[in-house]
Amino acid sequence: MKYLNTVQIIFITCLFFIGFQNNIDYRKLHSDALVVDAHNDVVQRILEGEDISKRTLRGHSDLPRLKDGGVDVQFFSIWVPPQKTQRSYFDQANEQIDSIEILIRRNPHQAALAKNASDIEKFVRDGKLVIMLGIEGGHHIADDLRKLEQFYNRGVRYMTLTWNNSTSWATSARDEDDKIGKLKRKGLNDFGVKVIRKMNDLGMIIDVSHLGETTFWDVVKRTTKPIIASHSSVWSLSHNRRNLKDDQIKAIAKTGGVVFINFLPLFIDSTYAGKERRMRERNKSRVDSFHLAQKRSGPLRNISTEEFLKDEYLAIRPPLERLIAHFDYVAKLVGVDHVGIGSDFDGISITPLEMDDVTYLPNITRELLRCGYSENEIKKILGENFIRVLKEVEVR
Ligand SMILES: [Zn+2]
Repeated sequence: MKYLNTVQIIFITCLFFIGFQNNIDYRKLHSDALVVDAHNDVVQRILEGEDISKRTLRGHSDLPRLKDGGVDVQFFSIWVPPQKTQRSYFDQANEQIDSIEILIRRNPHQAALAKNASDIEKFVRDGKLVIMLGIEGGHHIADDLRKLEQFYNRGVRYMTLTWNNSTSWATSARDEDDKIGKLKRKGLNDFGVKVIRKMNDLGMIIDVSHLGETTFWDVVKRTTKPIIASHSSVWSLSHNRRNLKDDQIKAIAKTGGVVFINFLPLFIDSTYAGKERRMRERNKSRVDSFHLAQKRSGPLRNISTEEFLKDEYLAIRPPLERLIAHFDYVAKLVGVDHVGIGSDFDGISITPLEMDDVTYLPNITRELLRCGYSENEIKKILGENFIRVLKEVEVR
């Protein structure tokens, strides 16, 4: 037993329960439950001109597939890459919200935009996919609390304080790691504290995914309402700076908040980075000539290295159990009230096995049953935990 790591111990705990819940139909439980996914990047595909009201061949999600996956509430992430551009991030973010409103206006029977818990109840009853909006990165508010309020008025219900880039008022996980010694300061400054206060006052959920640890603890100190991590996993199971350490998970739970687990293989499987590195080394000459060809040919430029090496990437995908272990870890550490789904579908290029796209979500319900979770506990994880946080944060 000496060599067992935490992941293996969790697997054994889950295996121990096999057979206990075999009489429950996981598909029925999944479709009866309210299913919420706190993070999806499909908006980037809408911007590329894809019509997601129909079944699409690319990516992980579209309205028909979200329905097949039993999703009731889907957060669409609003994100503008932080590059030098003529147009402001605020304007571009608003255009992304426009494009979601157009999608809904054209497909009123399929989807609706919810701004509060009672909207969700009504739209779910009507059989619609409930879309909610989250802003990914504080750079979109351009150091202006009025812009934050404008986003709130358009329906934005959470904001991830930073993306990989820091703002003038909050440092990101990447910068706190990579720019050690170069940062003038870490954490929240006075304006950052005002952002926290304003979000609490408006009823916009504070999202701590992507934050540096200093910023994280500054937020925990200041917030008066539950906070979430919309798409992060567990650091103890895979040491990545985008994941949350045990004391952070405990602090989120103490606010009454939820950790929504990200599906990215790099975040969920501690062996993945090594496997990927070795696979890339094996294919180095192929990739080098592909990059050369890319420089010469226009159409090739749109193909990512991941797409070029698709078969090799498919061969190193982690098993589904690796993902389930993160749900189980948070549930065992702080209770089932503090864990949920934050897939990051369409923002990640590789997914775990048996989780090819959003239609595979019922497999999470199946595995949680196998791990011995009760129907009520699974319903909390699938969506009720999010509704509880929304109701606590929203201002009525
Ligand atoms: Zn992200």
